Amino acid sequence: MSEPQIHHPPQDLQSETFIDKILAATPVAPGSAQVLDILDKAKELHGLNSEEVAVLMKISDPDQVEELYETARYIKDAIYGNRIVLFAPLYISNLCKNECLYCAFRATNKAIERRALTQEEIAREVALLEKQGHKRLLLVAGESCSQEGFRYILDSIDTVYRTCGGHDEIRRVNVNIAPLATEEFQELKGAGIGTYQLFQETYHRPTYAKVHIAGKKTDFDWRVTAMDRAMTAGIDDVGIGVLFGLHDWKFEILGLLNHIQHLEDRFGVGPHTISVPRLEPATNSELAAHPPCPVTDDAFRKIVAVLRLAVPYTGIILSTRESSEMRREMLALGISQISAGSRTNPGGYSSAVKDSVDAQFSLGDHRSLDQVIREAAAMGYVPSFCTACYRLGRTGKDFMDLAKPGEIRLHCEPNGLATFLEYLLDYASEETRRVGEETIREVVASLTGVECERSKKMLQQVREGRRDVYC
Ligand code: SAM
Ligand code: SF4
Repeated sequence: MSEPQIHHPPQDLQSETFIDKILAATPVAPGSAQVLDILDKAKELHGLNSEEVAVLMKISDPDQVEELYETARYIKDAIYGNRIVLFAPLYISNLCKNECLYCAFRATNKAIERRALTQEEIAREVALLEKQGHKRLLLVAGESCSQEGFRYILDSIDTVYRTCGGHDEIRRVNVNIAPLATEEFQELKGAGIGTYQLFQETYHRPTYAKVHIAGKKTDFDWRVTAMDRAMTAGIDDVGIGVLFGLHDWKFEILGLLNHIQHLEDRFGVGPHTISVPRLEPATNSELAAHPPCPVTDDAFRKIVAVLRLAVPYTGIILSTRESSEMRREMLALGISQISAGSRTNPGGYSSAVKDSVDAQFSLGDHRSLDQVIREAAAMGYVPSFCTACYRLGRTGKDFMDLAKPGEIRLHCEPNGLATFLEYLLDYASEETRRVGEETIREVVASLTGVECERSKKMLQQVREGRRDVYC
């Protein structure tokens, strides 16, 4: 007999009135003293509450906005240093029974060709990503994605982990698939996934009902309680997110923070990551072409900066949806993970077409992984493929317990550098290798103590031919 499922959200997630009240109670132009107090508190790296976040979201004075960005840059640097984690999405199926009005994969959209990749096709895609140097994948699928259902997802994860040759291997598979029942989440954990990722899309129920008009995804409660079931099943790294553009972004940020607070109260730890996709044009979608609440670039900068202050230890993910210029700015403000060289149509890496009509949405950045890495390194960033924490079991609360006192740096810095050097030696173009080696030299010269010793030792091991060294 299957276990009873967590389906009804607790009171703390039934929060529309609560959020509206906070927003209404916050002055339109908050005073300087109040803003400075909040920014000072944020610099202590313990996060902010919803009322404080509401104040920061309402500022518009250019000096205050610049101080907000300055604080975000300070926190980003204090916790994440100059590392930036890279991954690629792997779309395995665009079959879907839902009707999300913003998505090209929605069931009634006849304008795209449907396919669920076979295991051989998945292996081919993975081999191509490995050849580029990727070590971390995000597996993505529509809902009810094949005849075999959930088994298909498990088989696909197995195929990804089994596809390797020489130095080429995927070391961490994260997944972004529809909400599951608790027993299925247990199987997903058994398959060795890293993070289970799911976006609520919007925390505003009336908007949610308007844009999800058919299929299982119409059930807001089943979706908003997915992380409770995942964490009950033992998956302790979960990733949440909002699809910005559907409803007022300020409301959505407070919805996200409520969700995080709920998970912290219930499981002792919040999400590992937050994703911040903005609505992008999608084949045959009026809603995607004309977002009801468009998020300007200025608002988007604020979203990332405010989140960086509010939940300093939670990774923030930016996808290829954004242009390369925007991504560059966002790295400094708080983004800690980016996708690179992405395709959002199943089989996209094996196909010559860059922006297929079968894609889920249009991409804003078409640069290859090598180009993204070269540019990031030239700006002083260390592109990292590190998967150490996940493989050493430093996940969920164990990870946060190391991260909060700042000890995680002793691991992240050497691991980031070692995986970056692996990339440079095994996959990079000559030009990228030259730029990257220079960055490594500069970074190592700036390190002291344990971080420095460990980094030098691990870099030497990689130069001597060892791979996959981590601490
Ligand atoms: N089908 C599953 C689901 O909906 O949760 C998982 C995969 S779905 C392809 C992943 C995410 O893509 C969705 O959660 C949604 O936020 C995002 N997405 C869909 N259409 C988009 C668009 N037009 N622009 C940007 N992101 C979009
Ligand atoms: Fe299907 Fe997910 Fe797209 Fe909705 S967002 S139509 S569930 S693939």
